[in-house]
Amino acid sequence: EIHNNGDSKSSAKIPKIKFTKLFINGEFVDSVSGRTFETIDPRTEEVIANVAEGDKEDVDLAVEAARFAFDHGPWPRMSGSERGKMMMKFVDLVEENLEELTALDAIDAGKVFEIAKVGEMPFAASILRYYAGAADKIHGKTMKMANQLQGYTLCEPIGVVGHIIPWNFPVGMFFFKTSPALAAGCTMVIKPAEQTPLSALYCAHLAKLAGIPDGVINVITGFGTTAGAAISSHMDIDCLSFTGSTEVGRVVMQAAATSNLKSVSLELGGKSPLIIFDDADVDSTVNLALLGGFANKGEFCVCSSRIFVQDGIYEEFITKLARNAKGITVGDPFAPTTHQGPQVDKKQYEKVLSYIEHGKRQGATLLTGGKPCGEKGYYIEPTIFTDVTDDMLIATDEIFGPVISVFKFKTIEEAITRANSTRYGLAAGIATKDLNIANTVSRSLRAGIVWINCYLAFDADVPYGGYKGSGFGREFGMEGLYKYLQVKSVVTPVHNSPW
Ligand code: ADP
Repeated sequence: EIHNNGDSKSSAKIPKIKFTKLFINGEFVDSVSGRTFETIDPRTEEVIANVAEGDKEDVDLAVEAARFAFDHGPWPRMSGSERGKMMMKFVDLVEENLEELTALDAIDAGKVFEIAKVGEMPFAASILRYYAGAADKIHGKTMKMANQLQGYTLCEPIGVVGHIIPWNFPVGMFFFKTSPALAAGCTMVIKPAEQTPLSALYCAHLAKLAGIPDGVINVITGFGTTAGAAISSHMDIDCLSFTGSTEVGRVVMQAAATSNLKSVSLELGGKSPLIIFDDADVDSTVNLALLGGFANKGEFCVCSSRIFVQDGIYEEFITKLARNAKGITVGDPFAPTTHQGPQVDKKQYEKVLSYIEHGKRQGATLLTGGKPCGEKGYYIEPTIFTDVTDDMLIATDEIFGPVISVFKFKTIEEAITRANSTRYGLAAGIATKDLNIANTVSRSLRAGIVWINCYLAFDADVPYGGYKGSGFGREFGMEGLYKYLQVKSVVTPVHNSPW
């Protein structure tokens, strides 16, 4: 249900907030403490809703429900095709409610409605559909052993999964995490980020409508150091899948190790390079750089925050980059002309502005942007720095906002070395028409995904994840399923076998 917000300048569609409680064992319930927290609209800095604040006691109840659903419920015992069928029903409901889900993320996360509606949201649905299709393609193998023995493997669901997700793609992350775990036959507790709790609760409601059994998906809204910590240190969660900052990734992995040694996969930060060679088409590459740098207001882990440009085209490139960056419209996420919405919250807004100040203070040149915009809301201009040295804070740290740095380089070797000289290794881009350069550089970059003459190109079937400090484990593709499976080998003698 969506209605116009009465602002004649925009096509705003503000959703009515229907779900604000924890989702445990198929029911929406208050937190044990009765406490709630405010979720804020980054456009207006006003409260959208008060949401149940889950803590350890609530996580315990959710894990208990997930445990029961795993140990005694139908979900892990169904055939893969039955699970897949129910997941397909879930996809249909997601697609029917796509506008409402988009609108929830637009007010809660500052996401541009028209862009998310045709990009992230259908992509999230495609992930669920992909894993619905994968559910009946999970199987082991048989091995002929020495001494008349036969071995075979069983691929079993790993058990109860804890998912901890960030605020930058609330609906997307919900499905990136839950879909493969559902296909595997796991049950789960998911904690959305405290900044963006609304859409996950709506997704839980759709899962129930689709017939996903009670206890299979539980949603605990709440904070990281309370609800999140209770998940990562829980003794009865078998697997932890985390997406967020490298800092918190370290903390949750430690908690997993000191509790019950639950398996861990981490999708963490990035400082991704986009390397542009002299022979690249300048006009299209300028637009790639703007997409890679400023999509989702720079709040995404594969943001191409380091743009390396070869010296032959450097001047032309930055002139055109500055010109096109000025064409990016920052404003209300519901306005049809908007390209970039507000940063997710005050903390991020201030953090991004402080990085901009650092850049200026450390001597980088501001090519465009550099200031907040609008009278209220967490809006920041798309910001580009040049004359950045590799050791400046804006060149080394993940900013997670609309701030990119442009560097000049001379040789391929130099580009590779500088692109790799980061503690991260999530994504990278290359722009060149030369196949040899593309091959050499893509093989030399230590990053989980390399885009050649494109950027931000994802697909449900293409694995994605980090090298180095960007974490480990892969999402999407069949690789994304394995962390939710456990392989058991069974060995038995085969007497009088003819073979
Ligand atoms: P950001 O700093 O960009 O907000 P975080 O890594 O802090 O990203 O947050 C990602 C997710 O991790 C959120 O759901 C957050 O609540 C959660 N989180 C934060 N701190 C902890 C913690 N100590 N233990 C478990 N989860 C946490």
